[in-house]
Amino acid sequence: MLDALFLGPYGENDTLLEKLVVEFLRDHVYWRRNFHPEDPPAIPTHAAQHPDYKAFESRLRRELHQLSASLKRSVPFHSPRYIGHMASDLLLPGLAAQILTLPYNPNNVSEDAAPVTIDLEVQVGLQLARMLGYPDDTDRPDCAFGHLTSGGTVANYQALRLALALKAFPVALRAAQVPGLALPADDWEAFNLGPDAGIELLGQWQLWLAGQPARDRRRWRDAVQTQRLEHLGMVEFFARHRDLKVPLVLAPITAHYSWSKGLKLLGLGREQLRLLPEKGMRLDAQALEQTLEQCRRERQPVLMTVAVLGTTEYGTVDPVDAVVDLRDRFQTLGLGFSVHVDAAWGGYLATLFRNPDGSLRGIDEVRAGFAHFPQPEVHAAFAALGRTDSVTVDPHKLGYLPYGAGAFICRDHRATALLAEAADYVFHDTRATDYLSRYRRLGQFVPEGSKSGAAAAAVYVTHKVLPLDHANFGRLPRQTVLAAEAFHARAERLAVELDGIARVTVPFAPDSNLVCVAINPTGNADLARANAFVRRLHDELRADASQPLQLKQFFGSMTTLRPEALGETEMNRILTQLQLDPATLVDDDEDTDADRLVILRHTLMNPYLIDHENGISYIDLYLAHLGRRIRALLGSPSP
Ligand SMILES: *Cc1c(COP(=O)(O)O)cnc(C)c1O
Repeated sequence: MLDALFLGPYGENDTLLEKLVVEFLRDHVYWRRNFHPEDPPAIPTHAAQHPDYKAFESRLRRELHQLSASLKRSVPFHSPRYIGHMASDLLLPGLAAQILTLPYNPNNVSEDAAPVTIDLEVQVGLQLARMLGYPDDTDRPDCAFGHLTSGGTVANYQALRLALALKAFPVALRAAQVPGLALPADDWEAFNLGPDAGIELLGQWQLWLAGQPARDRRRWRDAVQTQRLEHLGMVEFFARHRDLKVPLVLAPITAHYSWSKGLKLLGLGREQLRLLPEKGMRLDAQALEQTLEQCRRERQPVLMTVAVLGTTEYGTVDPVDAVVDLRDRFQTLGLGFSVHVDAAWGGYLATLFRNPDGSLRGIDEVRAGFAHFPQPEVHAAFAALGRTDSVTVDPHKLGYLPYGAGAFICRDHRATALLAEAADYVFHDTRATDYLSRYRRLGQFVPEGSKSGAAAAAVYVTHKVLPLDHANFGRLPRQTVLAAEAFHARAERLAVELDGIARVTVPFAPDSNLVCVAINPTGNADLARANAFVRRLHDELRADASQPLQLKQFFGSMTTLRPEALGETEMNRILTQLQLDPATLVDDDEDTDADRLVILRHTLMNPYLIDHENGISYIDLYLAHLGRRIRALLGSPSP
């Protein structure tokens, strides 16, 4: 059933891909010829006989051969022996659609440059919206909207940009003293309206403006425009509104470093990123509540709270449900903010929770066939996605598509009016323009300018061939979760096998499809020495371009566990399990890595980790290999 989906670890589906590529390349050439068949060939038919042509061709071939040869040193993402970072084989439908589209070279900045693929990109946004439980009916005024980005980093940046525009807009309306609108009483209230009331007010303003005579309309539009944060800049905006502090972004300590980049880029400054502690490897909702309470008391505005669905390092899932509950509660207390879910990694796992009709699956339905997945907390987090304000999903991660394809999706598309560059377009009644034609000027709304239409075609075709529900696309994440469960169980057997040689543990039960393994040689109680040992193991598992690829048996990656992130109790539990002395864990110190525990990290996304055809489990092979390497490094003979 998965057989036709990928090129395959052995290139098994080479004939299929080759047929498709050749067929659609020819198709493209005929399209060129059929544009104006009366135009004769501009390149003479005998050109290929000319010595210059031949010299050029031989140079070209030489360079391509060199490129192709050096690319053989690439990381073999396709192989089930690769369980390192977040990459795997590419879905054939996406690969074929991208190759097919490349020679047409559509530019999804606007419909003028991409009459076909721009609609596909908007459709992709709706496909992902449906997967997340956002409204995807474009006839609804509050329909969701999503678009592609170069990756999760830019999608997260777009989330910040949109949330800030929406938060600051009511303040601008007040400053412009627009009559006839029910405006908030003061700046603090205006800055804390929250996303829903903010969108409501934006709609009222657009209606009011549309009702003004033409010359007043322009005057009012400019009056508001010149009061906006986007016009004034951070410095002048907050100088004019002295009651308002620069807002904070709250995120779990495990958040990806793109959040730090985003705050710098937006000019809010990294100082405004507050990292919240975790509890049991998930964002601590109680700590979030305390921080929000403190912000409310100190009149410290909050721009957004970020929850991570599938952390980059551990694959863990934050309590999205608790975060949206807190948003709603603090809204009634006068502290408004948006909730964004960074699901760059875990987004496509949502397909496991969706029926083909778009409805949510119950925990017992999802659970069938899995040993532990999903924990009730994980099910609750996915079930709450529809209540969040925006989400980042990376098709180039668990969507098995080529780089760079990230996506940003917001629950209510009306807020995007505040992102548009052209003011005249921003402020006419958006309900008068239909949804699709509005977003055919995609460049108006997105951080990027020119962007790949071929990437949009690849994502669209993939989602059409494999709809985003459990019965279709969901079969892929299902494999990855099953692989993680098999890995977890086999790692526990390895712990028994290595008894008396090394302590091996899975430090926390995986929430999804990343599994970490902690190791300490028996008899060692010193954290720094345990770390040095795991780093040596990892050195054998990392990509190394100076060696022939075939020398590598397996690829893995590493990460660290820090007490600031885990909390002392959890950290001590893990150190004790490893028979490490917690006293050898030192405070943050530049000269040593004894302020954290180094562990191996495994991304189990390759669909062929368990090869049913040949009865091979690469998971078993890997963990047997790991056992042998641990024995060898410790000078302990293999049984
Ligand atoms: C990968 C990742 C990102 C960044 O995405 P890019 O596509 O690499 O830009 C952001 N957040 C999380 C949780 C991620 O896993």
